[in-house]
Amino acid sequence: MALFGKKGIGIDLGTANTNVYVEGKGIVLGEPSVVAIDKTNDEVVAVGEDAQKMIGRTPGSIVAIRPMKDGVIADFDITASMIEYFIEKAVGKRASKPRVVICVPGGGTEVEKRAIIDAAKMAGAKEAYLIEEPFAAAIGAGLPVNEPTGSMVIDIGGGTTDVATISLGGIVSSRTIKMAGDQMDHSIIQFIRSRYNLLIGERTAEAIKMELGSASIEAAKDMDSMEIRGRDLLTGLPKTITIQAVDVAEAIKEVVDAILVAIKGTLEDTSPEISADVIDRGIVLTGGGAMLKHLSDVIAKETDVPVFVASSPLECVAIGTGEALNHMDLYKKQSR
Ligand code: ADP
Ligand code: MG
Repeated sequence: MALFGKKGIGIDLGTANTNVYVEGKGIVLGEPSVVAIDKTNDEVVAVGEDAQKMIGRTPGSIVAIRPMKDGVIADFDITASMIEYFIEKAVGKRASKPRVVICVPGGGTEVEKRAIIDAAKMAGAKEAYLIEEPFAAAIGAGLPVNEPTGSMVIDIGGGTTDVATISLGGIVSSRTIKMAGDQMDHSIIQFIRSRYNLLIGERTAEAIKMELGSASIEAAKDMDSMEIRGRDLLTGLPKTITIQAVDVAEAIKEVVDAILVAIKGTLEDTSPEISADVIDRGIVLTGGGAMLKHLSDVIAKETDVPVFVASSPLECVAIGTGEALNHMDLYKKQSR
């Protein structure tokens, strides 16, 4: 029997991806936060990578669900099954129940937070604590969160963007908005539909964003174009068109603008001392959305503050959640 002793697990329960960190090992898995369900008997058919492949391609009775899509638990039982699957995949079935810290997007209600703790316990956790995403992101990015100095982190995920300033182990000011990677994908779908009468799927839209997306329309003028495939809305037949980077930049502009408004609002809510610290230290970007081309430049230009992308933006939050395992005395106060 494998004995993990008191080893803990850190789970970054993201709206798009879940990453699991095991104490002493580091990140052991990262998979999409997707669950496939058979509607006829409500059974879980697949979780993670396997379930993701089924999105938009499921036969009648199977649906692929993202239970955390908007940053809140859409379905309690499905979320519990997902957490259970990830815990088991990370450490195997075992006798001693693990201690678990789960990172959730900011802005959740007490009821939603309670639901995630309950789901983790139902999934086999002995103790379960929550840590807020911007806080975990800041720890993972190596910011001095417990010092009397201000840090600012912006985490752009799938369903939510979390913006926060942090000092002395607490969040000083923050904003959570439901404008992030998913909304960029939707804006691209709508743009291509109205401009070219072409219907594309979510996976295609995401691929376009990653390859051709730019936060700056100006910079997009010097970027490439790309061939994309979809269904012609007039003929119903498959069709290939070429789109320009500028089109994509225009399509996602509303999301980039909403993120800028959230950042400025958060900066306005901080004390002058913390603003001064942030100017000295810069703003750190984490989450998959941090990799959008030219985003750091645009934020730097709009705020007049230097901006850095964390070294592993997709893993940063899980690393920070894992590190928080060692300091739960400090963070327990956040996880009631
Ligand atoms: P969450 O924490 O909400 O699960 P992640 O931090 O895992 O989200 O980020 C997922 C989001 O990042 C998705 O919307 C994905 O499309 C986006 N993303 C990943 N890579 C890139 C990239 N290179 N450019 C733009 N967006 C990206
Ligand atoms: Mg995240």
